[in-house]
Amino acid sequence: MSANISRRPRFVAGNWKMHKTPAEGASLAREFVALRAADHAAPGVRVAVCPTAVALDAVGAALKGTGVHLGAQTMHDATHGAFTGEVSGSMLSAVGCEFVIVGHSERRQIFGETDAMVAKKLRAALRDGLTPIVCVGETLAEREANQTTEVLVRQVRAAYEGLDAATAQQTVVAYEPVWAIGTGKVASPEQARDAHRVIRTTLDQVVGAGAGAAMCIQYGGSVNAGNAATLFAEDDIDGALVGGAALEAASFWAIVSAAARP
Ligand code: PEP
Repeated sequence: MSANISRRPRFVAGNWKMHKTPAEGASLAREFVALRAADHAAPGVRVAVCPTAVALDAVGAALKGTGVHLGAQTMHDATHGAFTGEVSGSMLSAVGCEFVIVGHSERRQIFGETDAMVAKKLRAALRDGLTPIVCVGETLAEREANQTTEVLVRQVRAAYEGLDAATAQQTVVAYEPVWAIGTGKVASPEQARDAHRVIRTTLDQVVGAGAGAAMCIQYGGSVNAGNAATLFAEDDIDGALVGGAALEAASFWAIVSAAARP
């Protein structure tokens, strides 16, 4: 693996999904921060947590000055308007968010988000001062039909077509095979590595040579304290997007500390 690749900093984000009230979220954030401070490990690993929209303020207050970043789970691409129930990127920035997850498979599958909507949200997030974490990944049926590469290429192309390399590098990609999310079935490090390479090659083709190698690509799908180190042994995996295991401070901390590059 080239030295260039290992210079990418690792980045672990917790997606709390629809869990934790503001008080519960603030308490989880404080517990995590205390573990991190006590251990002094993983100084080079960036960390973010993404609570529900109503918990952003309370969790943001708990994280203030700790170096742990705040992110949101989704956003609308408009700046404001008649979009009942939605939240804009500028509103997320105003409460201290630095990151926003876009195109999570639950948004795509349950709420009907299309590749085109994900592309709009990516651009809107950047406009609103947020770093989008752009989720891509194949379903089990697609993997079994040998369509993984095709799906990843389509999703990455749709999201990044028209962006230049410098702009693309302000984003993070999360490879999240749908069959691994919340199922306990983690992708093997080889499966994740191969998918990450497809994503890097596609980024090179779409936004410019060298873009793929420069970009942070997380793996997401049943990452836990027990399997994180094996995944992170793969240099191409630049971190993780963590669901279930991020809801408990000790397991999230174990994942973050496993992410430190040797
Ligand atoms: C996710 O929601 O992005 C995710 C990866 O969930 P889990 O870790 O629970 O599989």
